Amino acid sequence: MFIYNEFCLLSSPDFGGASDEVPELSDSEDEEQWMEEEDEPESKECVLCLFCDRSLHSVSETFRHCEADHGVSVADLVKKHRLDDYGYIKMINYIRTTRCSVPCVTSCSGSVLPWSGDEYMKPALPDDALLQIDVEELGGAAVCDDVSVWVQRAQQAEENLSRAMEDLHQLKTFAQGLVLNSDVTQKCVGSVSELREDEDEAYFSSYGHYSIHEEMLKDKVRTESYRDFMYGNPDLFKDKVVLDVGCGTGILSMFAARSGAKKVIGVDQSEIIYHAMDIVRANHLEDTITLIKGRIEEVELPVEKVDIIISEWMGYFLLFESMLDSVIFARGRYLAEGGSVYPDRCSISLAAVSDAEKHRDHIAFWDDVYGFKMACMKKAVIPETVVEVLKPETVISEPSVIQTLDCNVVTLPELEFTADFTLKITANTYCTALVGYFDVFFEQDCTNKVMFSTSPHCTKTHWKQTVFFLEKPIPVQSGDELPGRIRVCKNRKDPRALIVTLNLADLKQTYCVQ
Ligand code: SAH
Repeated sequence: MFIYNEFCLLSSPDFGGASDEVPELSDSEDEEQWMEEEDEPESKECVLCLFCDRSLHSVSETFRHCEADHGVSVADLVKKHRLDDYGYIKMINYIRTTRCSVPCVTSCSGSVLPWSGDEYMKPALPDDALLQIDVEELGGAAVCDDVSVWVQRAQQAEENLSRAMEDLHQLKTFAQGLVLNSDVTQKCVGSVSELREDEDEAYFSSYGHYSIHEEMLKDKVRTESYRDFMYGNPDLFKDKVVLDVGCGTGILSMFAARSGAKKVIGVDQSEIIYHAMDIVRANHLEDTITLIKGRIEEVELPVEKVDIIISEWMGYFLLFESMLDSVIFARGRYLAEGGSVYPDRCSISLAAVSDAEKHRDHIAFWDDVYGFKMACMKKAVIPETVVEVLKPETVISEPSVIQTLDCNVVTLPELEFTADFTLKITANTYCTALVGYFDVFFEQDCTNKVMFSTSPHCTKTHWKQTVFFLEKPIPVQSGDELPGRIRVCKNRKDPRALIVTLNLADLKQTYCVQ
């Protein structure tokens, strides 16, 4: 085979006019083999396509076929990822070994490519003619001696630089505008779907690490609810096309496949998806599940429409992270007429809390710190919500549902809302905080309905509860009805964070859920 275990590349006789260049080989064994290959008449060559079972007569014909019939330009891929010889070899072997789909290859982006592993240096086919070309001819990162090309590149770089400077200037002006208008009481707008890739990088890189997925998978309340909904309703999934928005490790896609779905497409922008690809293969589900790396807002799916969208998009206090924006986008773009989104309904609730010890520890602590007054610190402490598991006995009111979302119809503007509520107090004590939590329902068209709750009265989940501490505890009596108003909106400076304004009795406090 060509690669001769040293992975050096030769110019293919048929490719890009390099036919009469005899490459330099240091090793005589290599040279002999080269001569043998050179003697072979070109027409005898039989090159297997990267994406189908067709064999073509030459490398260039194969590349033309890939472009015309599969829409993949290998040269563009080489340029896009600035592949050097090794990168190119690995890409070809990766495509052949994994038999991955076209979107799986074309949607790759970022610095860690799915074929980065050294195992892809191993040829997938013996004597693969695609590994015998000069990657430089394809516009890769190899050294180029032609001065005019360098001049052209320098001019291009200069142009890019001046465009980048202009962008930077505009960004600065925009940022100044944001700072000047950062009044949190203003109406908050914006969708995460509009965030640029670099603005959302930190969000997706946090999902790239396995630990966050381990925590979610170990949350049995969460994961078993999705599983029970899918396994308990096979009629819903039989022969359906399912889209898993934010597939992570692929767990929901696999539940859907096992429930009888004809095809499942999992999309995730974080690098965890490369593990998901291995996981799907390890479970022999690659014929049913197609995984695509990218933002749901940007990828191109191999189907026009899907019958079902599943997603685990919920954040703290339900809406933190604003991933529902992406599900709403997917629903609008891909859900077929009559299709459904699951979970199909969610609600957010509030209840009153009395926990004097927690309040002392978190708030009153600042009144006297080693004999010094630090009460001014409370202004920084109070506005930050605390995510923790509450003891159920600290809840001192009936819950009040402040919002219900129907995931099949909810629109982006409805994710920012104001609600009046009343908390029916059940104890004679002091209200030291409010607790926020959410409930999730899988019900529409289900024979076996499933729900779970993140309430302090239920088994704890990784979402815990969201606590809004009150600066001054309010005295309450059993039977009292504590009136309040809540406003929830996105933080204009970070649409993944939330700003919550609470009016309770005669108190008003703004919080940031982050
Ligand atoms: N479905 C998995 C993971 C849920 S966590 C499970 O249930 O275990 C949410 C996942 O959605 C993360 O992996 C995150 O990277 C991904 N995600 C969030 N917004 C996305 C978007 N707009 N496009 C693609 N993936 C997204």
